[in-house]
Amino acid sequence: SWLQICSRLKGEVGEVEYRTWLTKIALGPVDGDEITLLLPTRFLRDWVRSQYGDRLSELWNQVLPAIRRVELQVARPGDPAAPPLVLATEDAPVAAPSIEVEDAPRSAPEVRSDLVTTLDTRFTFDTFVVGKPNEFAYACARRVAEKPSSVGFNPLFLYGGVGLGKTHLMHAIGAELVQSGNVSVAYMSAEKFMYRFIAAIRSQSTMEFKEQLRSVDVLMIDDLQFLIGKDNTQEEFFHTFNALVDAGRQIVVSADKSPSDLSGLEDRLRTRLGCGMVADIHATTFELRISILESKAAASGVVVPGKVLEFLAHKITSNVRELEGALNRLIAHANLFGRPVTLEATQDVLHDILKAHDRRVTIEEIQKRVAEHWNIRLTDMSSARRARAVARPRQVAMYLAKQLTSRSLPEIGRKFGNRDHTTVMHAVSRVAELMERDPAFAEDVELMRRMLES
Ligand code: ADP
Ligand code: MG
Repeated sequence: SWLQICSRLKGEVGEVEYRTWLTKIALGPVDGDEITLLLPTRFLRDWVRSQYGDRLSELWNQVLPAIRRVELQVARPGDPAAPPLVLATEDAPVAAPSIEVEDAPRSAPEVRSDLVTTLDTRFTFDTFVVGKPNEFAYACARRVAEKPSSVGFNPLFLYGGVGLGKTHLMHAIGAELVQSGNVSVAYMSAEKFMYRFIAAIRSQSTMEFKEQLRSVDVLMIDDLQFLIGKDNTQEEFFHTFNALVDAGRQIVVSADKSPSDLSGLEDRLRTRLGCGMVADIHATTFELRISILESKAAASGVVVPGKVLEFLAHKITSNVRELEGALNRLIAHANLFGRPVTLEATQDVLHDILKAHDRRVTIEEIQKRVAEHWNIRLTDMSSARRARAVARPRQVAMYLAKQLTSRSLPEIGRKFGNRDHTTVMHAVSRVAELMERDPAFAEDVELMRRMLES
């Protein structure tokens, strides 16, 4: 079975990559549904985990369904290097898999003789939609693109959650600078930085690598959090970083957290990273999601009705990449079948995506939480009592049920003592209205929502 997995992987990743990384894996123990794979160094473990981790789990699970988790560990000195181990799961003993023993690769991965940067041409300032959550980061990025190495903007540290536009802004800076001429720009992910650094060590060309890095005008490193725990690479980055800043070059860095929250990063690196401009990209708002969808729909040439855009912006709130992916699928369908985009078609085409985004809050949970919060009896959620002290929380629960579940108005009504759907509709608009007028009430409802969502 391990042999099977190995040959599948080899086919998928190609001979060179396979030899470089995957022949280093040794089988470790099996414990219940978990198998441990051993790697000789922490670097290799992290690398294999980040590049092949998911695929390895999938393959194991396909070959041996009893295996549900693949754990990657650094082999300790006592561990076997790579001998075939007897692999047996409790209910399904399996013959000892043999391991293909191959020589260590002799040729190190290639180090490019230059730092060719490929910028994604779709990611420009023009295609970046600006709103409250990202306007500051956007302004900083523009500023750096206009006047690199200005005091106060070096380094530029962009941070924010996944899919909120960090990479997009970095490419936009690069594109702008390259266009303005005679500026050399190097962009790479921290992962690639590490890969190149390690490759340079292997091929004994670290001097060359350092010189290349230190010869650029603008160095951009994306997803810096990847360097956490990679002490050598951090060290190298730190030196390069200092050398570049001292020579008046611009550094742009992105990460998923602010410098002060990036624990595991060396203190002096963290300090230096934070001493230029630190710009946070906040989670998107509904308004920004709508603007982004509008802009992407317009660019596609397919007519997407406003209510479809609103529906998507309501449903997919986590990150822009997913939002974009959903819209792209709709557009592809529209083009393919020549049918107009409707709300029904959207629900159909995006069925799987929407399901994944369905918050799994139940109406019962909402009722329970709301009743607790406003101190009423749970039974009053379905009772006929009309006293405001009872009716208001009930309306809030209906409002939240509409917002947080995919239930229809009649379905919601049924759960509230068989009320009519117009009653639910009324409750929803009443609560929305009150929230507009009464900030304290709005805050209460928002808090409730956040509690239920988390
Ligand atoms: P991050 O690097 O922060 O994880 P990306 O920059 O890769 O996110 O953005 C994910 C996707 O969402 C990209 O396709 C990007 O173009 C798009 N995107 C993110 N924010 C915006 C925005 N404000 N306007 C237009 N597209 C955006
Ligand atoms: Mg990114």
